[in-house]
Amino acid sequence: MKLTTLGTSCMFPTKKRSQPAMLLFHEGVNLLFDAGEGVQRQLRLAGISPMSINHVFITHWHGDHSLGVAGLINCFSGNRRTEDLHIYGPRGTSERVKHLVSAFDFKKTFRIRVHEVKGGEAARIKDLTVSALRVRHGGHCLAYRVKEDDKRRINLDYTKKFGLTQHPLLGKLQRGEDIEYKGKKITVEKGTYLKPGRVFCYVTDTSYFPELVSFCDRADLLLCESTYLSSDEARTGDRQHLTAEQAGMLARDAGVKKLVLTHFSQKYINSKPFVKEAGKFFDNVVAAKDFMTIEF
Ligand SMILES: [Zn+2]
Ligand SMILES: [Zn+2]
Repeated sequence: MKLTTLGTSCMFPTKKRSQPAMLLFHEGVNLLFDAGEGVQRQLRLAGISPMSINHVFITHWHGDHSLGVAGLINCFSGNRRTEDLHIYGPRGTSERVKHLVSAFDFKKTFRIRVHEVKGGEAARIKDLTVSALRVRHGGHCLAYRVKEDDKRRINLDYTKKFGLTQHPLLGKLQRGEDIEYKGKKITVEKGTYLKPGRVFCYVTDTSYFPELVSFCDRADLLLCESTYLSSDEARTGDRQHLTAEQAGMLARDAGVKKLVLTHFSQKYINSKPFVKEAGKFFDNVVAAKDFMTIEF
């Protein structure tokens, strides 16, 4: 899996940061999480064709996370797209997309399929399951978790004992069926093992609450907002955002492998204090910049 951070600011874009937009690439599929203003251009600058986006996951309809949706639809209609576009989002997404489509003069060359998500499984795309959790941010807002299917692999150390290292029968074993070779039975249980699929979590625009920990459980990569430093916590209480300290604690408690901080308030020029603050609780942390790519 590869994450490209297209926009890492929050409410206001800055000279260096565009509004929230994150691209997850996995085996030929692009999943876009949030589409802040300017997302089309950010995609172009990252060398990614906007036309390659078939699935857009909106966390919530605050403008910083969604102003780019109309731009994408305009781009697709200008290019006479014919493939369906899937837009996932919280309650109210259908109504909002309907308004967007009627507000502009788009050519209707493709279908927009809207999926309103309350929580639980949001989408199944190839070998990925996307699930959602309603988070605490005033209106309806979602966090997303993407889980790759576990993959069955051949336990070659075991099958070697039977003289089996390359054989069409191994395909059968990998598909989860016991096999017999030269009169000896090789069971799925002993002849294979499950390699856990990778997990990506995106948590943004929420106050802290305990269910976030189980939602992010052992993610390979947690991309988490840290709008403010904890010294500004009095402000975050009102605004329903996380501090770098809370993001660090969440990463630690959920046992994730890597934490990437994002969604920085424009009042901060330097992101180093964010890494330092989260780093008190969790070592493997970086502050996102626009156009960072992270493979995991
Ligand atoms: Zn936001
Ligand atoms: Zn928001």
